[in-house]
Amino acid sequence: MNKQTDVLIVGGGFGGVGVAQKLSKSGVSVTLVDRKNYFEVTFAMLRNVANPKLFGNMPRKLYSDFIEGEFIQGTIESLNDREAKLASGEIIRFKRAIISTGSRYPSLPLAKSISALDYSERSHEISGNHQKLTSARSVLVIGGGVVGVELAGEIASAFPDKVITLAHSGDALLDTLKPKAQRKALEQLNNRGVTVKFNRRFAKDVDVYRCSKSNETLQVDLAYACVGMLPNTEFLKAELPGVLDGSGLIKVDAYMRIEGYENLYALGDCAALDVNKHGYVASVQGGVLADSLIRSEQGKKVKPYKTPPFAVIAATGTDSGVAQMPFGVTTAKFFVNLKQKDLGISNMYKMYGSVPDGLV
Ligand SMILES: Cc1cc2nc3c(=O)[nH]c(=O)nc-3n(C[C@H](O)[C@H](O)[C@H](O)COP(=O)(O)OP(=O)(O)OC[C@H]3O[C@@H](n4cnc5c(N)ncnc54)[C@H](O)[C@@H]3O)c2cc1C
Repeated sequence: MNKQTDVLIVGGGFGGVGVAQKLSKSGVSVTLVDRKNYFEVTFAMLRNVANPKLFGNMPRKLYSDFIEGEFIQGTIESLNDREAKLASGEIIRFKRAIISTGSRYPSLPLAKSISALDYSERSHEISGNHQKLTSARSVLVIGGGVVGVELAGEIASAFPDKVITLAHSGDALLDTLKPKAQRKALEQLNNRGVTVKFNRRFAKDVDVYRCSKSNETLQVDLAYACVGMLPNTEFLKAELPGVLDGSGLIKVDAYMRIEGYENLYALGDCAALDVNKHGYVASVQGGVLADSLIRSEQGKKVKPYKTPPFAVIAATGTDSGVAQMPFGVTTAKFFVNLKQKDLGISNMYKMYGSVPDGLV
């Protein structure tokens, strides 16, 4: 079956849902396609695995329960500047298409699932991961970026008696943050009993983890590799190979238009727009793009996109964290709690004109 829409949005993450809701509210005919049938607040997933009782299914919500325009569950296999083809064989023709297919963490599917495309399968996947973690006495977290730091902190908060090691290849945690944020995060993790090892590269070697730099070995019950984000852009290679840069990101101009095309746009983790790939940045981009498309339809002037001020809050457990705000680094509760309260779940749904499941 073939269909026609004004605006096709491929990918319902923070960017795609943001642009879909705003365009639909202004009366634009929008079709959102995602391979999953649910939206999920990624920020909450590490705590959701470490302690599922805290938020239950609150991070997830069926698209059909809150998306204003049309939603189709399906995987887009190829796309050109007129139509997209789904894995089911269905063709969707469009006037404009917005690509917001985000990224994946192949080494850590608990953070963003690769195979659980259905809401209940995902809940099952989370509880399976929680069971595994519960029965492990010792845990190795590989990678000291925000994801690794947060995972080590969440596990230490939920299971203070586990032996937790965080191994990082560099000589400071949170590479992209300021030295004060790096020091504070280390202090907070150490206070929770996490052992942090720097300049280590551990990989599985039969039944141990071996460091390729020092040859040191670790025997652990469970290991998580928190490294290696990849953009979900392979499906563009068949018909639009020239739009991808060397890292697989989609090349866009300052109006989020895909280079060389007037009616194709890209935003969020899959676009070469902002260096820092953050969910809140993707939702800002979604809002800006929706406004620009509405203004250009009305014949009004459109301003180029400007990167929002850099702000990151890294939680190091349920009641601690570091915030690097535009004015500096702080561990003050007021700022850390902007994320800690419910890891941004209510705020994200509010932004999309909805509420989390369980709070209706
Ligand atoms: C553990 C963790 C913690 C994080 N913490 C924070 C944080 O505290 N603050 C913050 O701002 N950011 C955080 N991030 C980063 C944030 O999650 C990403 O920047 C954000 O998810 C990007 O949003 P997006 O809309 O670009 O893409 P995504 O959220 O990746 O969504 C892309 C969507 O596209 C769909 N899709 C992909 N390919 C196809 C296809 N071919 N056909 C159909 N559908 C497709 C996917 O199913 C998915 O739903 C964190 C990330 C992780 C992993």
